[in-house]
Amino acid sequence: MKRINLTTKLNFKIVFVVLLLMITVTAYNHWLYVQEENDKNITLLMSITEFLVQKKPAGSFADIAAQQVSPLQPAQEQVLAINRQLHPLLNEIFVPLDIIKFGYYARQYDCIVAIGPQLDTSLLIGISPCKLRQINESNTELLIKNKSSVVWHGANSLAYVKPISENGVIIGHAFASINQDAVYSVLWRRTISTFLGAFLMVLVCVAVFRELFVKLKKDLRTFAESILDGRTYNYKSEIEEFTPILKYISEQTEKMTKLDRLNIIGEMAAGIAHEIRNPMTTVRGFLQFLSIKNEFIKQKENFDLMIDELDRANSIITEFLSLAKNKNMEFSYINLNTIIHDIYPLLQADAMRNNCEIKVILDDIPSVSADQSSIRQLILNLVRNGIDAMPKSGIINIYTEAVDSKVLLSIQDCGVGIPPEIREKLGTPFFTTKEQGTGLGLAICYQIIQRHSATLSIESSPGKGTTFTIGFKQS
Ligand code: ADP
Ligand code: MG
Repeated sequence: MKRINLTTKLNFKIVFVVLLLMITVTAYNHWLYVQEENDKNITLLMSITEFLVQKKPAGSFADIAAQQVSPLQPAQEQVLAINRQLHPLLNEIFVPLDIIKFGYYARQYDCIVAIGPQLDTSLLIGISPCKLRQINESNTELLIKNKSSVVWHGANSLAYVKPISENGVIIGHAFASINQDAVYSVLWRRTISTFLGAFLMVLVCVAVFRELFVKLKKDLRTFAESILDGRTYNYKSEIEEFTPILKYISEQTEKMTKLDRLNIIGEMAAGIAHEIRNPMTTVRGFLQFLSIKNEFIKQKENFDLMIDELDRANSIITEFLSLAKNKNMEFSYINLNTIIHDIYPLLQADAMRNNCEIKVILDDIPSVSADQSSIRQLILNLVRNGIDAMPKSGIINIYTEAVDSKVLLSIQDCGVGIPPEIREKLGTPFFTTKEQGTGLGLAICYQIIQRHSATLSIESSPGKGTTFTIGFKQS
């Protein structure tokens, strides 16, 4: 048998598709995280800035400085004086260190005069706050994205800036700024660890599926081989849940094989019967014609014997013909009990010739859709087999009963029984264990049962007897 290695290809495909899906989902999730985080942070920045504007002591930054040093002092002294005044206010705001900074920018000194949460003196004097100066003239609140921020010593940042006015003049700004690089690195760490966790789970799933798939493949191969060898009957899969499916497939395969054989035989039979019957009829006619001639009058007995033998051959051909696939059946609603009554004398005569007896136990049953002559043949064949199975003597019981939605017809003998090893072969045309048997009786029965969409069950114990039960669907 050709061996195909699907495992690796399939695994790669599955892993590739799953990875692609995971990457898409992770990227989308990451984008959502970023949006959510940004929204949250902007609200935080806005409220910090608002707080700073509200809480700033009244008066310009120069006024605040003047409380401690004279306005004539150099700018550096004045900025430090403002810082001393404002820093306690900044300490009231609690934020995660290294992510958010906030403070005041004074236009007059062109520098940041207070910054929190930790005092970063490097920003107060000497370093130009660049971007902040750019918005000096603006009197509206602004959200600024900085590619390299002074507040964060070069990191990407997002700042919220609000102007502070004193007597209608903008004297500076309150600001709050967040380190976007730090925020994004936290988000990436979260995304990557989620992705790795999910990937690990996928790997475990693939490993489990691979194991199952390998088992299944091995099972199917052995199963296919056993079908070819015809030993499917009690096939057991390594995966327990799979056994019923394989069993069902094997049963169906067996049925199909049997039907196939029947169909071929049927077609052959129809052709052969046609070819043989015609010359036989001619020969029979001549024999009959010659047997009454004066010159052959002494041979009359021999002629009659020849005619009888021809008739027997003809009846065998008729049996063959019953297997013909397209033999017409006339379905009508009939009661099986009526058919049994009709053929009872025939059955009884046959039984008595073989020291047997027929007992009929009939229930009240509804009519079923059936072809009368086929059912007669079915009963005759089964009863005949029953008689054959009881060489000395015995009783054959014929039962009918209605169970659930079925009408059951059972034919029970107390004969030799059917050995388990030939159970499989029953119904195969020409299979017989009898010296004089044709091996066609059960093949015909199986075909009749199949064409009536009926079911068959056989119970047999060697030495005790056999019961054939046919279940017809109630119409
Ligand atoms: P035949 O009767 O010509 O042998 P069948 O197709 O009717 O052909 O039966 C096939 C075989 O099935 C028989 O030879 C016999 O071995 C077995 N068989 C059928 N019915 C019975 C039965 N009631 N008891 C025992 N064996 C049976
Ligand atoms: Mg038979």
